[in-house]
Amino acid sequence: MTHFVCKGSCGGTLEQIGVCETSGCSAQWEMMEECVCADGKHGKADVDGAPEVVAKDSNGTVLKDGDTVVLIKDLKLRGSSTVLKIGTKASSIRLTGNPDEIDCKLNGTAIVLRCEFVKKIA
Ligand SMILES: [Zn+2]
Ligand SMILES: [Zn+2]
Repeated sequence: MTHFVCKGSCGGTLEQIGVCETSGCSAQWEMMEECVCADGKHGKADVDGAPEVVAKDSNGTVLKDGDTVVLIKDLKLRGSSTVLKIGTKASSIRLTGNPDEIDCKLNGTAIVLRCEFVKKIA
């Protein structure tokens, strides 16, 4: 819900646009700033709710759902003797909510890869 927050030291809020009237506030008589936070913390970046997770490959290219990547080094799968070879393609990657990891399918098996070990090709 839209509300208005004092930029000064009082931290006051108003439901409607107006000036701060708190005596002694560093921003008294200055316009309050519009804010749409739902949590009462008046965080600036948090317009859509969840912060955006940006996953990047070894080159710093931003990865998105549905991208295809290749491994840039041999990776041993934890808990098995399987080694994923450099150059192995993983298609239809999905972001996990963790900027360091992606979900993907390798040879039909769903696994989680570290972004630093892949390179986007499509
Ligand atoms: Zn104020
Ligand atoms: Zn707010």
